[in-house]
Amino acid sequence: MQTKYIVVLGSLMSGLGKGVVTGSILRILDFYNYKALPVKFDGYLNFDCGTMNPYQHGEVFVLDDSSEVDMDFGIYERFLGKSLTGDLSITGGKLFGSVISKERQGKYLGETVQIIPHLTDQIIKNIESIATGKKPDVMVIEVGGTVGDIENSYFIEAMRQLSLKHEVVFINLTYLPTLDVVGEQKTKPAQIGFRLLLQDGIRSNFIICRTASKLLESTKEKLALFANLSKDRIIDDQDQLTLYNLPLHFMDLGFDRLLIKDLGLKPRDPNAAKIRLWKENVGRTVSPKGEVNIALVGKYTHLRDSYASVKEAIIHAAAKNDVRANIDWIESSDFEGGRGDYSSFKSTDAIIVTGGFGSRGTEGMINIIEHARKNRIPYLGLCLGMQLMAVEYARNVAGLPGANSAEFDSSARHKIIVLLDSQKRITAKGGTMRLGAQECVLIEKSSIARAAYKANSISERHRHRYEFNNKYAPILKKAGLRITGVTRDRKLVEFIEWRTGFGIGTQSHPELKSRFEAPAPLFASLIHEAKSRHAHPSS
Ligand code: GLN
Repeated sequence: MQTKYIVVLGSLMSGLGKGVVTGSILRILDFYNYKALPVKFDGYLNFDCGTMNPYQHGEVFVLDDSSEVDMDFGIYERFLGKSLTGDLSITGGKLFGSVISKERQGKYLGETVQIIPHLTDQIIKNIESIATGKKPDVMVIEVGGTVGDIENSYFIEAMRQLSLKHEVVFINLTYLPTLDVVGEQKTKPAQIGFRLLLQDGIRSNFIICRTASKLLESTKEKLALFANLSKDRIIDDQDQLTLYNLPLHFMDLGFDRLLIKDLGLKPRDPNAAKIRLWKENVGRTVSPKGEVNIALVGKYTHLRDSYASVKEAIIHAAAKNDVRANIDWIESSDFEGGRGDYSSFKSTDAIIVTGGFGSRGTEGMINIIEHARKNRIPYLGLCLGMQLMAVEYARNVAGLPGANSAEFDSSARHKIIVLLDSQKRITAKGGTMRLGAQECVLIEKSSIARAAYKANSISERHRHRYEFNNKYAPILKKAGLRITGVTRDRKLVEFIEWRTGFGIGTQSHPELKSRFEAPAPLFASLIHEAKSRHAHPSS
């Protein structure tokens, strides 16, 4: 079957949830057993987002194949339940890079290299080569940014050209503000967005309307008239109790049937069993039986998108345990220099210390880890959270004052965490960390890690430059720290655990592989532990 295309474009403003809409469309197509694949375009001129501060662009998502990609890939994987590859991420940087390198090789000899047709041809070639290689039934292309931006204008033009060669369905996600005073949903901004697309030669098949409350029939009628569309093509995207309900909501509106018709696919019945399981999981997410309180400690908490995968992993694990997880966001630098209100952890059922780079906030993290250990609050350390768990143990249990990570204090007396050997000669920053899926052997039969994964060899995604210093393994082990997971060559420590209570740190980022229907095992174990603590706080 020839690949068909869906292009998702946003108008008016960013942050409307284009990623979630794209993820929901992928989920719907999968419900119908169509092979659906996303492609994301980001207009920035960085090759990828790996060198960006999380405050710039949210979390950097890492795939198995070690690509550092936009956080929307996290949404796609969580909705689709499949691991994706880096070639699906197209950036302005990659596109310009390949056109310029072709020009240097003399591939355009004699020609003036231009945005149209050379760059747009390159885009179409990229897309078609993904289609030929991976053979999806439907490719869902999300265009980053909004219509009217300079950064994505040439990509939108390429999508118009793509539609001259292939079956392409255009979807325009827009925003309908409601004015408090009159309580009316205003359609004018959406009309302007629709017209901007018309100017680019693109007529949307659907307008998806982001609204705080239900899209009114009168609003639908008005927009339909202006856009020359039938009313059932104006789709309601009101706030959901959980974003995982959006595919089901879209199906209730009949969006699935129209979409499949527009794509020219033969109608078929959706897979009822898949839908039922998804629905059940949504039910447990929205109205679970119990609750737990989770403290999420980080150094970029002012932008919660920095921890999107951690937050979602908690939500997935909570649903599995039939509880609601109330997340308390804690900025670690608030717990430094004698400051910090530890009484706020009184009702905390588990603490997670997240990954990060640079020294700011790390002393606060160490203080919080000490508090967790001493008060037997279940603890999960992710990457940096594992490294600092080792440092805390060295300082406060093994009696190694001044212990630290070489990343934060290169002259520390006891460097518990040091630069990876493989990093020592690297100076370039882009894509040079230890990245992607790495195998890890769980060496201890009875350990938190083994109990969680129920396997002795596992694979998780990584993104780091520093590692546990094996020189300190004997002394820390003697003091009671357990090393429960290592790389197959036994050179790198991957998991450490406290001997008493529930405390585990991993050099990996298990949150990156957590899916709505398959929560990350360590998160599931942590929430399970938190649930029993919530039920018996004093034990
Ligand atoms: N900064 C640490 C390192 O590079 C931890 C990285 C992380 O948490 N992802 O090893």
